[in-house]
Amino acid sequence: MSWTAAPLEADWGATVAALTDGRPVLLLAHVSPDADALGSALAVGLALEARGIDVVVSFGDDPFTVPRMLRSLPGQHLLVSPGSLDDRPVVVSFDVSSVERLGLLRAVAEAADVFVAIDHHASFTGFGHVHLVDVHAPATAVLALELVDRLGVELDATIATPIYAGLVTDTGSFKYAGTTAATHEVAARLLATGMRHDLVARHLYDDEPFVALRLLGAALDRAVLEENAAGGLGLAWTVVTDVDRSTFDLPIDAVERVIDVLRIASEAEVACVVKQDDVGAWRVSLRSKGRIDVSSVAISLGGGGHRFAAGFTGAGGPRDVLHAVREALAAAEHLPE
Ligand code: MN
Repeated sequence: MSWTAAPLEADWGATVAALTDGRPVLLLAHVSPDADALGSALAVGLALEARGIDVVVSFGDDPFTVPRMLRSLPGQHLLVSPGSLDDRPVVVSFDVSSVERLGLLRAVAEAADVFVAIDHHASFTGFGHVHLVDVHAPATAVLALELVDRLGVELDATIATPIYAGLVTDTGSFKYAGTTAATHEVAARLLATGMRHDLVARHLYDDEPFVALRLLGAALDRAVLEENAAGGLGLAWTVVTDVDRSTFDLPIDAVERVIDVLRIASEAEVACVVKQDDVGAWRVSLRSKGRIDVSSVAISLGGGGHRFAAGFTGAGGPRDVLHAVREALAAAEHLPE
């Protein structure tokens, strides 16, 4: 099932009305937030704060830890851990494709008087009372910018910065096919505020402790190329265990870099990194060059995502996970380049 409905004018109106009628607001990113989810929530949080509205931002992880690369985004003062949240009748989720991705805060969101879901995943499942979902948007951050505009808040460098972080992340630094002229026009508008896009890019991509390079080296050293996988289109995969990470004393977000490097192998249409999180679960990241829709592969294995980038949490150990990935890739349709 793919979500196809576009945001309706009435739903934008209902969202702005709910956010501005004086009730306390909670803005949510998905668990293990990325720049698109957290950046969108922080930008709208800053806009609501500018309008004098009582707003906090959270996500349903325990422990409640902002990924290192996102800690320099403006609006951190709005963050409240799930355990410290008070009653919030208006809830908006950002970049959350299914209620499971709300983690610990699922019940809080579902108990709200108004629950708005803002997203751009084709795998969006239709939860919440109001849907502002555009599967053609390259990032949820673009929808967050529209909401800032509709709230009547002037776009400044502080609000533009987390929006830009979401946009640059979800477009693969404007490399993915979903990037359009309109995407660059949004970026131009953000940069025109005087925001420091160079610092955003450095914090997101070029700011790892030296030991993260050792972890990358170890993960690449044991990477495997299966040229016959994915119906002959090829698969490159590797595994990163929690032992690897504890060896280098690194959090799981330090592993994100591995797939960005693995995916460049020209012999493999699909790259796969199987990484063990702090509770021992095996999280799987998939990237495609475009001829296989990895979101459909991830959805068939209980996850979600986009055509080029998707993921799921595996059942069993890495061997079982890789077996499931190979089977799903072998059955996947080959799309035109
Ligand atoms: Mn996104």
